[in-house]
Amino acid sequence: MFRNFDQISKNLKSKFFFDYDISNFTWFRTGGKVDLYCIIADEHELEIILNHLNNETPVFVIGAGSNVLIRDGGFRGIIIRLGKSFNSLKVNGNLISSGAGILDVNLSKYACNNSLQGLEFFSGIPGSVGGAVKMNAGCYGFETKEVVKEITAGA
Ligand SMILES: Cc1cc2nc3c(=O)[nH]c(=O)nc-3n(C[C@H](O)[C@H](O)[C@H](O)COP(=O)(O)OP(=O)(O)OC[C@H]3O[C@@H](n4cnc5c(N)ncnc54)[C@H](O)[C@@H]3O)c2cc1C
Repeated sequence: MFRNFDQISKNLKSKFFFDYDISNFTWFRTGGKVDLYCIIADEHELEIILNHLNNETPVFVIGAGSNVLIRDGGFRGIIIRLGKSFNSLKVNGNLISSGAGILDVNLSKYACNNSLQGLEFFSGIPGSVGGAVKMNAGCYGFETKEVVKEITAGA
């Protein structure tokens, strides 16, 4: 399924792990082996990698893995995790621009340190911003959908 990845993996900064035990990256330490686990270096490489996939290859994006159970039999396909370049945080007036890889708790602290309110509830959720958007994570009476103004989806 990933024969053509031998070559591209040599030319990219993204990290490729074939036949990889994914359990260390799921919250409950479940899961067997995934055919390919890939830590994406940046948006440009994400596009390259997705373009090299066959249309039928199962793709799964993992955040902090706190809402994921992978079975012992593993996952036949590619699991993608966003690397450090997706951990950006920037204040613009009373808005924060956050990368999808940032942990919810770090977004919450960043808002607090910049005297911005409304993201306190994220300190109680053990996930990433990407996972929070996908799951509409919430607690203490607040939900992600109430604090998201705009989303950029790459690739
Ligand atoms: C102890 C504990 C307490 C919890 N408390 C709460 C709570 O109070 N409130 C609550 O809402 N949830 C809670 N959860 C559930 C979980 O933390 C949330 O659903 C969280 O938002 C998942 O984020 P994650 O980054 O871990 O996503 P993952 O578990 O890795 O993935 C969840 C889903 O999001 C998708 N996803 C992840 N990142 C991306 C991305 N960058 N782009 C596209 N899709 C992506 C995955 O494909 C998957 O479908 C709790 C879980 C645990 C273990």
